[in-house]
Parts: sequence; structure tokens; C-alpha cells
Amino acid sequence: IQNKKIGTLLIYNINKEYAKGLEEYNNSLLLTKMLFAFLLLSITLLFILREYTSFIEERKKVAEYEAIHDGLTNLYTQTYFKSRLHQEIERCRRYKRPVSVIMSDLDYFKKFNDTYGHLAGDKMLQMIASVLSNNVRSSDLVARYGGEEFAIILVEAGYEQAKTVANRIKGLLKRSLEVADTIKDEIEKTKIDIDGKRVGVTISLGVTSYAGGANYKLETMIGEADLALYESKNHGRNTITLYNAETKKFEYYT
Ligand code: GH3
Ligand code: MG
Ligand code: MG
Repeated sequence: IQNKKIGTLLIYNINKEYAKGLEEYNNSLLLTKMLFAFLLLSITLLFILREYTSFIEERKKVAEYEAIHDGLTNLYTQTYFKSRLHQEIERCRRYKRPVSVIMSDLDYFKKFNDTYGHLAGDKMLQMIASVLSNNVRSSDLVARYGGEEFAIILVEAGYEQAKTVANRIKGLLKRSLEVADTIKDEIEKTKIDIDGKRVGVTISLGVTSYAGGANYKLETMIGEADLALYESKNHGRNTITLYNAETKKFEYYT
């Protein structure tokens, strides 16, 4: 412009080879990008799948737990109690491992609810569930049999060491009565605060044991424990009654 040079224009003739190389380069770049995107997508999908699987596993575990546990007390349900007791009776018949059942029922609990309300009653049931669970071994089982009824299965832990079946059953019976006695005392001591007042309940218990005889069923054992519990109610409540299978008589512990 006006005899002044303001720049240089270079013009190349891009030959065919160069154009082809450029196209190949662009193609491989696109392929790399696609591969990378695919890899990223796969990793994301894998991550989502893993999260989903663990979520499902967790849900399954919760559902399994809820199916055999009571919502208020977290104790086992009656259905689970019965299936385990059935197994224990079979095991007792085969391997002579004695089993005990404690059936229990709170005394005058309807009156407790009427006086202090259902929420206080629920709180009491939860505290009683803790007392029961805290006084048995991990090999035993505590269940909420009904509203304010609880059932316990006790098994003889070191039964292989005991020389005779008679000794085994004697050992388990002794422990069953000790457990029932501790529970009875602990529940009597358990109080909850309602409007500054300390209130509590008592419990009646029925105990029975099985040592492996013939013609003995789940219903037989539950029936015996129920009868013993009924005896405790008739003996003024806050009582333990043991059904003695040999003498077919009841023994009372107050
Ligand atoms: P008894 O000494 O003869 O056993 O008298 P009871 O009043 O305890 O016996 P009954 O079986 O007549 O009453 C049981 C009461 O337990 C009835 C109900 O109010 C109460 N109950 C049952 N389930 C629940 C529960 O989940 N929560 C509360 N708060 N109360 C319950
Ligand atoms: Mg009842
Ligand atoms: Mg009751």
C-alpha cells in the first residue's frame, strides 16, 4: 500500500500426501476421543451398577431382619421362635442336648396402659425387652410372643462335657431357674419416669424343659410352659412356676 510492504502472504500447494496424512490424523483423533468417551461411560456404568447392587443387598438384609424381628422391641417374632424351638427339639432328640422354654407375661399390664397411657406402655415393653436380652447367652433366643408376652429358648451350652443326660438337664434347669429369677427381680426394679413419678411392673413366668423323650412336639413344650405361666398368675403373679416333666407337678418360686 503506497509502496509500503505491510505483510507477506505465503501460498502453499498442499499436496495430496499431506492432505491424506491430515485426514488420517483427524480420524485417529476422533477414534481416540470415542474410545475415551466409551471408557468413561463404562466406568460410570460400572460404578452405578456397583452402587445399585449394594443398595439392593442392603434392602434385602433389612427385609430379612424385619421379617423375623418385632418392630417395637427388636426381639424375634413368634413365628421365628416356633421354627427355632422346633429345630432345638429335634436336635435334643437326636443329640441329647436339653432345651428349656420360659414363657412370660406382664402382670396387670392393661391397668398400666389405662393409668399411664399406651406410649408409657410401649416404653416399658422396650425396657423389658432389654432386660430379657441382657440376661441370656448369645446361644439363647428371646422373642416377643404376643402383646406383652415374651418367650425364651435356653440351650445347654457346654452339654458335650456333661457326662449323663440327667446331669445335662439338671444343669440347664438350674440355669433356667436362675435366668427366670434374675429377670423377675430385674423387671421389678425397672422403673420409668412419668410426670416425675417412678413406675414399674412385675412379670409372671413359666418354665419347662425337654431332655429328649419320645412323642414330644413343639406344641407339647409350648403347652407345658403356658400351663406353668398360668399357674404363676394363679399364685398371685410376680412368680416363677417350673413344670417338672418327671413328676408332672408344678414347683413354685416367688
Ligand atoms: P394379667 O396379669 O392377667 O396378665 O393382666 P393383663 O392386664 O396384663 O392381661 P391382658 O392379657 O388382659 O392384657 C394385656 C394388655 O397388654 C392389653 C394391652 O393393653 C397391653 N398391650 C399389648 N400389646 C401392647 C403394646 O404393643 N403396647 C402397649 N402399650 N400395650 C400393649
Ligand atoms: Mg397377656
Ligand atoms: Mg399380662
